[in-house]
Amino acid sequence: MADVFDLTVIGTGPGGYVCAVRAAQLGMKVAVVEKWPTFGGTCLNIGCIPSKALLHASELFAEARDHFDTLGIDIDGPRLNLEQMLAHKDDVVKSNVTGIEYLFKKNKITSFAGMGSIAGPGRVVVTPDKGEPAHIETKNIVIATGSVSTPLPGVETDEDLIVTSTGALALDKVPAKLLVIGAGVIGLELGSVWARLGAEVIVVEFLDRILPGMDGEVARQFQRLLTKQGFTFHLSTKVTGIDRTETGLKARIEPAKGGDASEIDCDVALVAIGRRPYTEGLGLEVAGIETDERGRVRTDAHYKTNVDGIYAIGDVIAGPMLAHKAEDEGVALAEILAGEAGHVNYGIIPGVVYTSPEIASVGRTEEELKQAGVKYKVGKFPFTANGRAKAMLKTDGFVKILADAETDRVLGGHIVGHGAGEMIHEIAVLMEFSGAAEDLARTCHAHPTLSEAVREAALACGLGAIHI
Ligand code: FAD
Ligand code: NAD
Repeated sequence: MADVFDLTVIGTGPGGYVCAVRAAQLGMKVAVVEKWPTFGGTCLNIGCIPSKALLHASELFAEARDHFDTLGIDIDGPRLNLEQMLAHKDDVVKSNVTGIEYLFKKNKITSFAGMGSIAGPGRVVVTPDKGEPAHIETKNIVIATGSVSTPLPGVETDEDLIVTSTGALALDKVPAKLLVIGAGVIGLELGSVWARLGAEVIVVEFLDRILPGMDGEVARQFQRLLTKQGFTFHLSTKVTGIDRTETGLKARIEPAKGGDASEIDCDVALVAIGRRPYTEGLGLEVAGIETDERGRVRTDAHYKTNVDGIYAIGDVIAGPMLAHKAEDEGVALAEILAGEAGHVNYGIIPGVVYTSPEIASVGRTEEELKQAGVKYKVGKFPFTANGRAKAMLKTDGFVKILADAETDRVLGGHIVGHGAGEMIHEIAVLMEFSGAAEDLARTCHAHPTLSEAVREAALACGLGAIHI
């Protein structure tokens, strides 16, 4: 008789693989199903990891080109070896995805290669590229099938000239002119990679601001910094079509609200207007699983769908499409299934944009606090007044802490600056413990560190920062 699994996870991205590992650690007999040749999902194969490999390499390239002389390092100028930079990215991906293979083996998780579909509660059919389908019997099923790029109506991507993030991570030459459609996280991160390597980057954004959802002051400052780096922004503008010409591409743009059209010539266009849940071929209808108006699998607070024994986590359900959100849901669900009290604190999920400078945010923005009618105070500190930042030539940006006007409890933290993505976590931990700005301000911080700017922003919520 075939094995009966306690849990079968469809999809091995950060949601799926983390859920599988945690469930195995909690004593469950676990299977995973993956349709791609490697584990790790979008994040490890075509998302977080390869983009950060290119962001790191391109940042060092730009640093050597633009700042080494000021630091007293005279070089003849760095020469780009794009083939090697892409090979470095591929190596990093390989090492990460094989790491997941190791974790599955270590935790005695059985993997099935192929497209998983739900034949009903307790039944998953896996159809491989070649060969016969496998039939899995399982007590519980987790849908962790993630998301794919949202297409732009009228614009067909070919991953060569008109690309999604996947093509933008593998361009074999630096485009002279890169058109980025969408000033969100992907557009600004991958736009930064190619700008640093020499591309002219033009961003077309439908809304009147970049990075919707981030604190407005942060977004405005960041737009100024990117403009200084050579980005051009067309806000409140939409792309209505792109034609292939003999020399490249011609994009038609017009004001978002309608009006006179104009054209932009470019070599490559990146469509980065968001991502949508991926549930194709999963058999949601057969199993009677409900989705919401945006195609996301509907779940309750414990990740259960409307069908008993079937759960969903990660990008395929509501909430921010972030790897760490998916991972935390994976852990919480495994614990819930094991009878424990798994939980995700959605109010304290950090968001980081890995550009230079980095942008990092946790908790509420000023706009959200105003809208909610919460009385708050603002403590701000610029990196221009931080000794370490000066030594590193990294003085762009600031730290902003938002605290409750009466109780001093920290409600949000927002950082534009070098290393922001690391520094944000001390604010996140403070918020997990319901800490006050004064708690942070009274915590001794090593000198000279960039993190002292976080403490100074906390001090600015009280009597005032010391160094400004
Ligand atoms: P995914 O990672 O999308 O994994 C889903 C998996 O399910 C895939 O492997 C897919 O092949 C498999 N699958 C789907 N359907 C089936 C099926 N029927 N049968 C079998 N297998 C199936 N987030 C961050 O937090 N930080 C970042 O720096 C970051 N950078 C990003 C950069 C880019 C370019 C992109 C595109 C995304 C980035 N993200 C980042 C977002 C992050 O990748 C996602 O939030 C995360 O991967 C979601 O995890 P998931 O497990 O829900 O799904
Ligand atoms: P996004 O939602 O971050 O940004 C999309 C942008 O496109 C928005 O500013 C939106 O207003 C704009 N837009 C939408 N339709 C448009 C149109 N027709 N014309 C012009 N602009 C339009 O989406 P993304 O950048 O594609 O990223 C997708 C997801 O991947 C995000 O949810 C993000 O969380 C995740 N991601 C995260 C990271 C990170 O954490 N560092 C990095 C990359 C991706």
